[in-house]
Amino acid sequence: GVIDEIKSRGYLLVGLSADFPPFEFVDESGNIVGFDVDLAKEIARRLGVELKIVDMTFDGLIPSLLTKKIDVIISGMTITEERKKVVAFSDPYFDAGQVIVVRKDSDFRPKTYEDLVGKTVAVQIGTTGDIEVSKYEGIKVVRFDKFTDAFLELKRGRADAVVLDSATARAFVAKNPDLVISSGVLSSEQYGIAVRKEDTDLLEFINSVLRELKKSPYDVLIEKWFSE
Ligand code: GLN
Repeated sequence: GVIDEIKSRGYLLVGLSADFPPFEFVDESGNIVGFDVDLAKEIARRLGVELKIVDMTFDGLIPSLLTKKIDVIISGMTITEERKKVVAFSDPYFDAGQVIVVRKDSDFRPKTYEDLVGKTVAVQIGTTGDIEVSKYEGIKVVRFDKFTDAFLELKRGRADAVVLDSATARAFVAKNPDLVISSGVLSSEQYGIAVRKEDTDLLEFINSVLRELKKSPYDVLIEKWFSE
């Protein structure tokens, strides 16, 4: 299986889009860090190999996985039925949902996607936010490779809102006091690690790592004394 291939080559190739704090982003020293990066490190460590991160645009991740440029995608990727047609997802590792971000100095405070009809909304190409707002004919959707550019469009007044995942929205808003989250969480999504469908050995390995990481010392004690 692919695990033998990864072990003999000596490194795991993890694809991500490093514009998605706190999951993956570039820190002040230029390093790619975040929750997903630590998760990737743990998986590589347990495989006994080095970690190689391949940073790319979000919509390039699945094509790169399918053409074997990377072994896995760990990039805050929501498990969806559409994506499950082409890739396999691990067990969920994070609960998420979409929110709407606007400029604080405007009096526009949309609560629902309907409130965005007649407006211009900036999104990252291929994200669940893009997919959701694109269902509304009356919403003008402008699509960017990077979330940072979607936010620039909002700040410059060329877009009225950005739609994205709540934890990342909070991270951007914390760094941009001129922005505010105007809605509640509008969807219920879960992130999964994606692998090629045929790489069942890697998928099982990743799920076992996730199970281990989710276990508290208390769970370990219970397992030690109560499982047969
Ligand atoms: N969770 C969203 C999606 O899967 C956005 C992920 C991202 O931009 N990294 O489409």
